[in-house]
Amino acid sequence: MRRKIAILGATGSIGKSTLDLVERSPERFEVVAVSAATNAPALAQIARRTSAKLAVVADRTHLPELQNLLAGTDCRAEGGESALDEVASCAAEVVIAAIVGCAGLKPVMAAVESGKTVALANKEALVTAGALMTDAALRHDATLLPVDSEHNAIFQCLAGSRSEDVARIILTASGGPFRTASSQTIAAATPAQAVAHPNWSMGAKISVDSATLMNKGLELIEAHYLFGLSSEHIDIVIHPQSVIHSLVEFIDGSVLAQLGSPDMRIPISYALAWPERLATPAQKLDLAALGRLDFESADLTRFPALKLARQALEQGAVAPIVLNAANEVAVASFLAERIRFPDIARLVEEALDQASFVIPRSIDDVLEIDAATRRHVESMMKASCH
Ligand code: NAD
Ligand code: MG
Repeated sequence: MRRKIAILGATGSIGKSTLDLVERSPERFEVVAVSAATNAPALAQIARRTSAKLAVVADRTHLPELQNLLAGTDCRAEGGESALDEVASCAAEVVIAAIVGCAGLKPVMAAVESGKTVALANKEALVTAGALMTDAALRHDATLLPVDSEHNAIFQCLAGSRSEDVARIILTASGGPFRTASSQTIAAATPAQAVAHPNWSMGAKISVDSATLMNKGLELIEAHYLFGLSSEHIDIVIHPQSVIHSLVEFIDGSVLAQLGSPDMRIPISYALAWPERLATPAQKLDLAALGRLDFESADLTRFPALKLARQALEQGAVAPIVLNAANEVAVASFLAERIRFPDIARLVEEALDQASFVIPRSIDDVLEIDAATRRHVESMMKASCH
């Protein structure tokens, strides 16, 4: 029996890496549904190649184009955000959640509520609705498998151990393109410099997050929800080579780490084949050629986003939603050259300062706070331009 796969965000970086693995093992996997934001030609090509039965373009204005491109195939074309839920709840056993941003939240919840195995790359969904999502996963017997390399590493290191034996987890961070840069250099960073990650090839948003270290901050919150550990039991260490993907320290002092070349196909394959493993084309680790592994602590002065994320995790309530929404708007504005690089953390901090202590009770609550924060940050940006 082939495992049926649905891919939310099939045209992105994680989507493409997933397709690469799935298409190398046609005897093990079958793609049944795929989605994209706007790119109908790329989505139609994927749907044709994989013989998917459903293709959804989130922006409805691209639906006629998608329908044209899929004419004569037995793949149904759909459009609009609500159709993404169909991809999430279709006949697939495993849903790859690879949409970027809070835009992925509703479809991820639809997959969870359908009791799927959810291979979660879309960290923003968990950051904004962590408790709601893990509760729903329990209620609907869904399985959340982390695709983010750090969380996948921790998941592998934890295998078979009791939660009371875990002392702390240590997330590794590459440090991004500005790890050794001065505050002045960082202040003048251009979008092109910020997205030029030293080790990983990724979408633009997460690349900027890696440059500010907000990515590690989001991963801190993600780790809290996935592994049920509080902030003081989650540490972060800079490891420029991105070979150790994260570590778990046990109460006896033993530390387990997961290593591998920085290729997302390794953690994706683990989620796809779990509890088995899948051979991947990723480059094998050559430790002697590597020679050394380095570590240093994170500099919270040059990278304040990391401090803000920890503050949001500890504050709880709406703070992680506000952190994420403010960051999404700020990153998009930085990429559009409307604000400077340090403005990203500054806007997030200002938004967080005004976060309420209301506890979100539903996904609609989360989306309302997300939307209100986006409007607030937009108005802050307009105010500072005049
Ligand atoms: P990407 O920008 O390359 O791809 C994003 C995908 O989401 C595309 O298919 C796009 O069409 C779709 N999308 C974007 N906006 C959408 C919207 N409003 N509605 C519906 N679909 C939309 O991003 P990526 O780098 O593949 O990252 C995807 C997610 O995985 C992010 O949450 C990121 O943080 C996480 N992640 C990525 C990597 C990586 O190596 N790329 C590693 C770890 C985690
Ligand atoms: Mg990561």
